[in-house]
Amino acid sequence: MLTEYIDSTERAAQIIREGGLVAFPTETVFGIGADATNAEAVKKLFAAKGRPGNNPLIVHLDDGGHWSRAATELPEVAEAMLDAFCPGPLTLVLPKLPTISEQVTAGLMTVGVRIPDHPIAREILRVAAVPVAAPSANRSGRPSGTTWQAVAEDLDGRIDAIFTADSTSIGIESTVVDCSGPSPVVLRPGAITLEQLQQVAPQTREFGVGENHHMVVSGEQVNSPGILHPHYQPNAEVLIVEVPPVGISVEVSAVSAFCGMEGFDGLDAFALSRIFGSLEDYAAGFYEFLREVDRQSFQKVFVQTAADEGIGWALRDRQRRAAGG
Ligand code: AMP
Ligand code: MG
Repeated sequence: MLTEYIDSTERAAQIIREGGLVAFPTETVFGIGADATNAEAVKKLFAAKGRPGNNPLIVHLDDGGHWSRAATELPEVAEAMLDAFCPGPLTLVLPKLPTISEQVTAGLMTVGVRIPDHPIAREILRVAAVPVAAPSANRSGRPSGTTWQAVAEDLDGRIDAIFTADSTSIGIESTVVDCSGPSPVVLRPGAITLEQLQQVAPQTREFGVGENHHMVVSGEQVNSPGILHPHYQPNAEVLIVEVPPVGISVEVSAVSAFCGMEGFDGLDAFALSRIFGSLEDYAAGFYEFLREVDRQSFQKVFVQTAADEGIGWALRDRQRRAAGG
């Protein structure tokens, strides 16, 4: 397939309405959009990414008031979160409306709903006027695309169009919070922190390590899909370190990369390195740095753990997953 490179929101919306696949920017990462009510389009989307069919997609809408285009019900906690944080980097898991294709939710009776806070995304969604399933724009398992060039690297020839916009500002996927049960549970950390969610819904808790999140699939209980899939991984081996890192020989540094927020004696020995000036910059540049490590074919990348505050909460999660943990 010949991929079109576009900068028209009208054209993007038209392709989606016709059942095609378009990569477009959001404030988190680039997404690949497909009409969530069109099962054929959604099947093509899974194929283009090479995504396992049991990993559900998030449905995007242009306005919080349109939640009823994807969900049957907006529980009180979800409404409070929607009012406080949407549009924004937050996905609410809600009871699914039947018109949303079962392909989208991998057979779950719930659906993840998000209203992105990005003018191009919102305009595409407004003109398309259908709920749009949009996973991160990358081949399954790879670091998410935060620049249109990264998206092209993974998906040129596999999707109908790529919107050539600026790189994304947050650089880490949305916080996912399940609001379909008795109390809200964070399934994936993101830019909206647990503390922020607890300010509107104090009973919100984080999904426990080793815990099985049970969700209902057509009446049956299954473990949460998506959470366990390998994700965000470059080809290079990712090793998480504190600074200063210990026990790395000059020979290893010479064929390795490093990224973090603090310099140290020995940093110059690394073949490729990047020191970010803030946690926000670290989060925004992390995936692109991993991709650069692969472009230059390094075998190893040493990654300084992010501080556990603000966006660092989500960045630490992605660092762990990039390292295969
Ligand atoms: P991605 O599209 O790559 O950002 O991944 C979306 C993630 O959102 C999935 O891997 C799931 O962890 C989560 N998700 C989406 N829909 C649901 C749902 N209905 N229930 C639980 N988690 C969901
Ligand atoms: Mg993804």
